[in-house]
Amino acid sequence: MTVLRKNLIDGEWLGEAGSRNINPSNTNDIVGEYASAGPEQAKQAIAAAKAAFPAWSRSGPLARHAVLKKTSDEIMARKDEIGRSLAREEGKTLAEGVGETIRAAQIFDFFAGETLRLSGEMVPSVRPGVGVEMTREGVGVVGIITPWNFPIAIPAWKIAPALAYGNTIVFKPAELVPESAWTIVDILHRAGLPKGVLNLVMGKGSVVGQAMLDNPDVNAISFTGSVGTGKRVAAASVEHMRKFQLEMGGKNPLVVLDDADLAVAVDCAVNGAYFSTGQRCTASSRLIVTDGIHDRFVEAIKERLDKLVIGDALDAKTQIGPVVDQNQLKQDEDYIAIGRQEGAELAFGGDRLERGAPGFYLQPALFVGSTNAMRISREEIFGPVANVIRVKDYDEALAVANDTPFGLTSGICTTSLKHATHFKRNSEAGMVMVNLPTAGVDFHVPFGGRKGSSYGPREQGRYAMEFYTTVKTAYTFAG
Ligand code: NAD
Repeated sequence: MTVLRKNLIDGEWLGEAGSRNINPSNTNDIVGEYASAGPEQAKQAIAAAKAAFPAWSRSGPLARHAVLKKTSDEIMARKDEIGRSLAREEGKTLAEGVGETIRAAQIFDFFAGETLRLSGEMVPSVRPGVGVEMTREGVGVVGIITPWNFPIAIPAWKIAPALAYGNTIVFKPAELVPESAWTIVDILHRAGLPKGVLNLVMGKGSVVGQAMLDNPDVNAISFTGSVGTGKRVAAASVEHMRKFQLEMGGKNPLVVLDDADLAVAVDCAVNGAYFSTGQRCTASSRLIVTDGIHDRFVEAIKERLDKLVIGDALDAKTQIGPVVDQNQLKQDEDYIAIGRQEGAELAFGGDRLERGAPGFYLQPALFVGSTNAMRISREEIFGPVANVIRVKDYDEALAVANDTPFGLTSGICTTSLKHATHFKRNSEAGMVMVNLPTAGVDFHVPFGGRKGSSYGPREQGRYAMEFYTTVKTAYTFAG
């Protein structure tokens, strides 16, 4: 029997079946049925969050700590089951699904701790006898809009700090991954959140998401997704003078220098470009390689790609799962065709694969002979497709790495301290990796990018406070 998951509005599970969730590894497998909210439900959810804010924002740190800690504990205890369900609906491998679930538990644990570490400052005023206090307060109703590629980690890294700092939430997850979203909300709800503090409105971005953007009672919006939608969030937020934070696309460079350890460079490239089916904003889609190592690097990558096991996400042997859906598969194939038309050479893969069940399987694709001016170098593909750009030396590599409208992550593989240090200082990205894949970050430190990749304060770690709180400066004259 197919499960029916409802929306959570003002503490009540509401709604009728509106959409189905399909397993991309086997399109005959229906994960569940989900309520689809309309503008009226979005409005009710926002009103509920607004009504719940005064009490929740004044609740003591212990109340918030208890909910976040309990949530972390339950997610961790159910990591295998939740990770499996995540892999089933999104198509990432079991190991990646469980790993992401553990990450979500760690994030709730981190922010449970942060509730007990809230602090302010007290300074003497320039006027004798007057004291000045600086404190942080919750922003109000926070709209959280998330993409499909990290179905539990991204909601966790927005919901946990929002709650920890006393905000109330209207959460709209991506249509493709409602099960993970529903699971996290169900756990938080049962962990004891007062009604209205966290509301779930599953449904279409153009309907529910847009209703959130247009509602003046949403005081802040944290958005992760594509650049196009991010710009809509920005424009609507400026209109309402609300705080907003955007995490968007990437076209992340991995530089490989002649002096790199070849095995390390190949590991970084294969992991960064192809794991999670290349569907990571931090994926290394541009491999910028110097002349002296270029041919050995390309041969070694092809050998590794040839051995990768591509298949059903729920099969423990699978290393690369399917593409998330038909639309994304078409986009990947279109870009493979564009790369060929532009004159790049497809050195490996790019074909659709047949597996036991009907699914969206694509062989990882590697282009060589590409330039940084080609569309495959400039536009985010968001699939298992990477291209090698050959350069003569470090200086050219750095220039090519920075020549992009994006700036999320970057990486360099080298044994030269001088080049590694120079790259860390001069890369125009928010996160820089040395001898590590461009994807794969810690949960307790800031996450975010520059240029077209991000806008607003950083997410995660203590830096999340910047977005989810507002500063109050209070003056007291005690006589
Ligand atoms: P998307 O922009 O299509 O959708 C993101 C969310 O916005 C979804 O919940 C969607 O329903 C909603 N939405 C769509 N139209 C809307 C509207 N008019 N108003 C309000 N909300 C609306 O992105 P996607 O395809 O789900 O995700 C892939 C993108 O996300 C890629 O570009 C990827 O790089 C990016 N991403 C970025 C990061 C990061 O941290 N930088 C992390 C993960 C994914």
